[in-house]
Amino acid sequence: MKLFSVIGNPIMHSKSPRMHNNAIKNFGFDALYTRYNLEDEDKLRDILFNLRISGANITLPFKEKAFKIADVKDESIFDIKAANTLIIKKSKIYAYNTDILGFLKAIENFENLNKVLILGAGGTARAIAYALKYKNIKEIHIANRNLKRFSSFKDFITMLYEDIDDFNYDMIINTTSAGLFDENLACDKKILEKIFNYSKYAFEVIYNKETPFIKLCKKHNLIYKNGLEMLLWQGIFAFELFFEIKNQQNNIKKFMLEGLNLE
Ligand code: NDP
Repeated sequence: MKLFSVIGNPIMHSKSPRMHNNAIKNFGFDALYTRYNLEDEDKLRDILFNLRISGANITLPFKEKAFKIADVKDESIFDIKAANTLIIKKSKIYAYNTDILGFLKAIENFENLNKVLILGAGGTARAIAYALKYKNIKEIHIANRNLKRFSSFKDFITMLYEDIDDFNYDMIINTTSAGLFDENLACDKKILEKIFNYSKYAFEVIYNKETPFIKLCKKHNLIYKNGLEMLLWQGIFAFELFFEIKNQQNNIKKFMLEGLNLE
């Protein structure tokens, strides 16, 4: 039997086991997908080999570490230097980032995107910024509440929220955790309202609640999505890598949605 796991800290809330195990069951694979709460990131490599894990999804806060410990890195992740999917084959770790593909799939119906603002400057912001760059979006701006993380956004224009003076964006994306455990917005509501008056599209990475950001999107009649499709599609792409299957995306999607109990 093959063993797969999602690895992070905290990890109890992760929906990945439900998604993957239902797909595994329905495809009839001899495999099990579990979760692992990792305390010490320096143990990541040992855990993968000691538990004989065939593949793993890596989540907060170990995506950069996952990139570092990999022996073979997919070309698409050289820029973002973060991996969310690891495959272990013949004593080697192969690293991928299916968050990039998951995000692009989630926004594939959003048209005429030339100028995009990303709120937040963490790992997800970086994956999304490069996803948009690969999509040839011309202007990608990153705003955050402090400067300290901007050094990993050298390919983009960065600014503090209070320095935003051009509010004309086609899409605004919230990658911050503001609103996840509280009722906060990432920045002053007035700034967001000015941007929302121009924007056509919005994207919120949080998927399990109606955040203040989503409420504001509704108020301003924006076309918006939450992070559910991104979550789902990063899982579908990871599942394809785990089991080396192609042309089964519709079935994987159906089984993963069932696993999430959302269909
Ligand atoms: P990081 O910790 O790497 O970055 C978080 C960012 O949010 C930082 O820029 C941080 O600012 C900012 N931030 C946090 N809290 C606040 C706040 N209250 N107000 C303003 N800014 C804030 O996290 P990740 O990028 O890895 O993850 C961010 C979110 O994305 C999480 O909620 C995660 O669950 C979600 N996610 C969803 C996915 C999906 O598939 N839908 C996939 C991956 C992540 P500072 O620099 O000051 O610390």
